[in-house]
Amino acid sequence: MSAAERRRVPRVVKRRKLKPLRYAFQAVSFVALVLLVPIGVLAIPAGICSIPLGSFRVDCLFGTAQRILSSPLNVALWLLLTFAAVPLLGSLLLGRFFCGLMCPVGTLLDLFGKVKRVNFLGKLRLNNKHNKYAVAASFAAASTLTGFPAFCTICPIRGLCTAYGSLKGVELALAAAPVVLEFSEKRAWCRYFCPVGAVLGAVGFRKVFGVKIDTEKCINCKACMRVCPTGAITEDSFKTGEVSRTECIMCLRCYDVCMYDALKVGVLPRAHG
Ligand code: SF4
Ligand code: SF4
Ligand code: SF4
Repeated sequence: MSAAERRRVPRVVKRRKLKPLRYAFQAVSFVALVLLVPIGVLAIPAGICSIPLGSFRVDCLFGTAQRILSSPLNVALWLLLTFAAVPLLGSLLLGRFFCGLMCPVGTLLDLFGKVKRVNFLGKLRLNNKHNKYAVAASFAAASTLTGFPAFCTICPIRGLCTAYGSLKGVELALAAAPVVLEFSEKRAWCRYFCPVGAVLGAVGFRKVFGVKIDTEKCINCKACMRVCPTGAITEDSFKTGEVSRTECIMCLRCYDVCMYDALKVGVLPRAHG
């Protein structure tokens, strides 16, 4: 075998798995946001979910957007963006990292990991990733029409964090929707419907850090594509090296399964879409 051929033989690389780190992150976030409700997340007077941090607080980005749109000419409401600065900057840098590492609904759905699934969303042709932007736009418009953050009343994240036990009827059914949809496809709610994830993804459309594929090292085994819970890695990814910035939730499952050191985490090229 020539030296050039030897160089082309893919080399299996042993790397430290990041799964324990992800589990730890998700567990701590879940406990902080759900199980410690009395001192954790509160429904604040402005009507959106918020984490109090002394005299400061961190508010939900989509909740803030709805709050502003409920009365867009009220300049005082625009100041609420200060409290949404953390998720805003976080998403500009890291895209939907909240979805992969912190969201309690996402963590709950991950517990259904290997459940038997029947792709009923595909059969109903509802498995379109653009649906979630339509849902976000609809609730943004509804907020302006009704004068309050319309999605917050039925948001599963809020239901899990602040209102479990008190949800009834339609609210309870809608809050349970992500679990029902999980029986169709992994993270189906997050892929196709969640407006919170849609907004975080849209903000992170040009995110700075993320996952990319080194096409020189990739042997096209598709192990990463199979474990990706949001369909962020497609056939095109193996040609271009690009992983969808709007769909990737930074869970790093792909990094863990790639045996050829082809999955990279770092600064993304500026032209990447
Ligand atoms: S898409 Fe929505 S429900 Fe899913 S992890 Fe992100 S914020 Fe949570
Ligand atoms: S896991 Fe993905 S990136 Fe790694 S070699 Fe296989 S196809 Fe390529
Ligand atoms: S591309 Fe990798 S990091 Fe992004 S969602 Fe898929 S498996 Fe997770």
